Formats: sequence, structure tokens, C-alpha cells
Amino acid sequence: MQTDVLIIGAGGAGLVAALNAKESGASVLVITKEYPTRSQTCMAQGGINAALGNAGKDSVEAHIKNTLKSAHGLANEEAVRLMCCEAPNAVKWLDSIGVCFSRTKDAKIAQRTLGGASAPRACYAQDYTGLKILHTLYDRCMSEGIEILSEKYLLELIKNEDGCVCGAKVLDIRSGEIQNYESRAVILATGGYSRIYDKNSTNSTASTGDGIAVAARIGASLVDMEFVQFHPTALKNSSILISESARGEGGYLLNSKGERFTNELAPRDEVSRAINEEILKGEDIFLDIRHLGEEFIEEGLPQERKLAKLYENIDPVHDLIPIRPVAHYTMGGIEVDKNSATTLKGLFAAGECANHRVHGANRLGGNSLLEIVVFGKQAGVNAAKYALGAENTECFQAESENEKYQLESGKNEIDFYEVREHIGNLFYKNVGIVRKKSELQEALNEIIDIKSKLHLMGVSDNSKVYNSNFIEFLEFQNILEICENVVSSALKRDESCGAHYMEKLS
Ligand SMILES: Cc1cc2nc3c(=O)[nH]c(=O)nc-3n(C[C@H](O)[C@H](O)[C@H](O)COP(=O)(O)OP(=O)(O)OC[C@H]3O[C@@H](n4cnc5c(N)ncnc54)[C@H](O)[C@@H]3O)c2cc1C
Repeated sequence: MQTDVLIIGAGGAGLVAALNAKESGASVLVITKEYPTRSQTCMAQGGINAALGNAGKDSVEAHIKNTLKSAHGLANEEAVRLMCCEAPNAVKWLDSIGVCFSRTKDAKIAQRTLGGASAPRACYAQDYTGLKILHTLYDRCMSEGIEILSEKYLLELIKNEDGCVCGAKVLDIRSGEIQNYESRAVILATGGYSRIYDKNSTNSTASTGDGIAVAARIGASLVDMEFVQFHPTALKNSSILISESARGEGGYLLNSKGERFTNELAPRDEVSRAINEEILKGEDIFLDIRHLGEEFIEEGLPQERKLAKLYENIDPVHDLIPIRPVAHYTMGGIEVDKNSATTLKGLFAAGECANHRVHGANRLGGNSLLEIVVFGKQAGVNAAKYALGAENTECFQAESENEKYQLESGKNEIDFYEVREHIGNLFYKNVGIVRKKSELQEALNEIIDIKSKLHLMGVSDNSKVYNSNFIEFLEFQNILEICENVVSSALKRDESCGAHYMEKLS
């Protein structure tokens, strides 16, 4: 059976696209490699930006200005303008479908200041904003009768004889079967690639850049892959995020001497570099929110307190929180035009896997949740329009194509889990907050060398059903492709720009 719009990924971008494609009259199918309600969007804490002016003077123009400044000249002003102008409507829509935003005393949606913003602009649901948004979107999809298939892993996209994307080849994780799903249009909403940094990342383990690697393999263009945002405040030992809202509400950054050393609410690239410099001087770095008081922390930042207790064994009401910057958000991704269409006919993209040129070289906190709503809608509407006008052409794939995904035993001389961890640490050091040409080249050489040894790696578990070892090996291969792309792009950019910061030669 052919669906009009096949959506790969059930995070915020995928579910917003699904609702809008359905509303535009298309039949819709969503597939995801995990459970939809566990998609990384549920981890977002701090908020979603919209210039509502509920907590202080603000304007759409100020939102545009802040976004462009943070992007360091690499954003498209037209796209930024569209996103910021649509922001109040996006939040109004989320509110109308039941997202339980925190409220001010006069029942307006509450707003807080995040880094790089000139006003309190991030609308939040305590520090569970992404969770509330994702679960509300999921409820909405269920009540609209949208079919969502869990535990289906995207292997490849399929093109028809005219070169248009017309479906996807998928591994059913539960049965181990390979299945083809045919559609008139496909939307990729598979999230980012921060997990190339392995444990040096705040991201969910699913953020391995699969959709981006798959799109590139069939010829889609990627852009700005070198731009990876490092979040200043992850817990030191687990890389679990302590949201920017903690600084937005008045938290300080301190070194081991108890001194503040930077403007805590500067854009993330600047704060991360300031912390990195202190760490290189031998300092330990802490986030201090003790002065906010227990009542305020329990009411406004309950998740941060729980995370710090659980993963760092400290209580931020009484203790300093040990932190370090880690990879958090990937600005690069699949090139899309102003209709969310990729360079391949029939293929659309939205969310963190796409590059709508709204973040440029450094994303502002709160703009990603906004992006997934504004451009998720755009992708859904335009993919539906394209699908309903497209001819119903045959989408044929030979069975023999499936053979390359058959499990083979015996190729297990090098443990790919160890290699993945090694790459994560190598990238954190060499393709991290401050970069040097020689270290970038060293990282590229290593990736090329590892790729040449891929035939010596493989899976040890040959079972078909729920073979997580096999899925992780497939993800590892995508990681290798993304890593090569990131470091090659970084090598091409000599000058510092936002999150891509080249060490100054003395
Ligand atoms: C800890 C944390 C806090 C954050 N806080 C904020 C915040 O406060 N404000 C803000 O604006 N942004 C925040 N962000 C960023 C924001 O949450 C993400 O950029 C955004 O949610 C990405 O949404 P998405 O729909 O593009 O992708 P995701 O939510 O990552 O969803 C991707 C989907 O694709 C599926 N998928 C991936 N690969 C495959 C495959 N091979 N086959 C099938 N399915 C696949 C996944 O299963 C998932 O369903 C935060 C991020 C993190 C990690």
C-alpha cells in the first residue's frame, strides 16, 4: 500500500509534520526506531521562544535581531524572520492543543530569559517543556487517527525510475524483517548527530545522525556540518544537561576559587569557551543556584534538582553543581529550501536533521523547539501538497537489495563499541570547542583509517528478533559517515565563526 506522506521520526518535528500533512488532506504514516514518546524532544527543558512580552518588554524584531547576532552571519534572514514572526502563533497553537505551560499570576504564559536573549522570551512548562510538548503532540496524533509504527529502523530511502524519492527501506526491530514502505513523499525528521561525541554529549543515544547519513547516501546535499553547539552546563560526570534556565533564573558560574569569570547569559559558544579556558588553567567549574532558595528551585527547576541528586549525588539547594561543556545541538544538516524541500524531489526534511538556516553558526536556546513547530508544519503542508499532486509511479526495489543488510558472523576482530567510544573522545578533543587545523586533520585521518578497517568489525549476536547489537552497528556506520563529513567541513573553514572556533596562532 502506498501512503501519501511517509514521515521518518516521531519527535516534535515529525509529529507536527504528521498533524499538518493529515490536516492538508494526505494519508500519513509515521515510523520511528524507538517509542515516539521517548524521542529526544522530551528531554528539552528550558523553553520555546516567542516574543509574547508576558514577563517584560519584548518584540518580534528583538527576537530576530538576537537570533541573527547569535548566528554570526550564517543564517538566512528571511527564514529567521518567518520563524520569529510565526513564534507567537506556534505557542498559541501548542497552548490550544493542551500543552500545560507554566503561568504568571495573571494567568498568562510564563516566560524566562535564556542566553543571548534581550528579554524573557522562553515559554516553559517548569523545566519539562519538551516532555509536555511531545506528549501532547502524541495525544493529538492519536486522536487524529495518525498511524505511528514504533521500532522500525530506517535503512535507506528508495527512489523511483524518475529519481524521485518514493519510500523507505526499514528494518523491523521486533522481527528482524526488512520491509519497504512506499509513499509519494517522504519527510525526514530523524534528529541531530551530537552522539558522534558519544558520552561527551547531552543527547539521547538515538541522536546518531541516521537520517542525515541516509539522505547523503542517495545524493541529498548537506550544509554547515561543522557547526556543533557545546552546551556550557552538563553534569561533569554523566553529561546530563542542567538547563540554561538555571542561569536564566539567576544561577552563577564559579571556578574553584569561587570567582565568577564570565557573563552567564552570553550565547552558548562564548560561555563554553570561557569555561574551557578556565578548565585548561586547571580550574574545576561549578554552577551555583543555592541563592535561589529551596522553594524557588522546587517550583521552577524541579527536574534540575532531581537530575543533580540522581546523577551527581549532590543537592543544588545546598551544594555547588560540578559541570563541563559537552556537545548538545547540531546546527548542520540536510539542505532544505524555503518549502522544507531537500535537493531530492519527493524528499522533505524538518527539525534538527534539517538545516533551515535559522541557527547559522550558533543556535539560541529556545529556538529549536520553535523551529520544530514552525518548520515541522511547513514540511507537513508542503509534502502533502506535493504528494497529492504527484503521479502514482511504481516504486520498485529488487529483493537482492536487501542482501547487504543480512547478518554475517565472524567479522568481529575489532570491537566497534570500543572504536565508537574512542571516536567520541577524539572528536571531543580534536573537533571540539576550540579547534586546530592539525588536530582536525588527525581526526580525519583516524576516521578514514577506521573506515578502512570496517570489514574487521561486526556483530556478535546473530539473532533476528530485537537485535540491538545489529542496530548499534548500523548506527555506528552512520556515525562514521557523519564524522567524516563534520571534520571535512571543519577543515574547509579556516576562520572562526560561532561554534566553529579555530585557535588563534600566536
Ligand atoms: C537535554 C536537552 C535539552 C534541550 N532543551 C531545549 C530547550 O529547552 N529548548 C529548545 O528549543 N531546544 C532544546 N533542546 C533541543 C531540542 O530538544 C531538539 O533539537 C529537538 O527536540 C529535536 O527535535 P526533532 O523532532 O528534530 O528530533 P528528535 O526529537 O530527536 O526525534 C528524532 C526522531 O527520529 C527517530 N529516528 C532517528 N533515527 C531513526 C532511524 N534510523 N529510523 C527510524 N527513526 C529514527 C527517533 O527515534 C525520533 O523519534 C534540548 C536538547 C537536549 C538534548
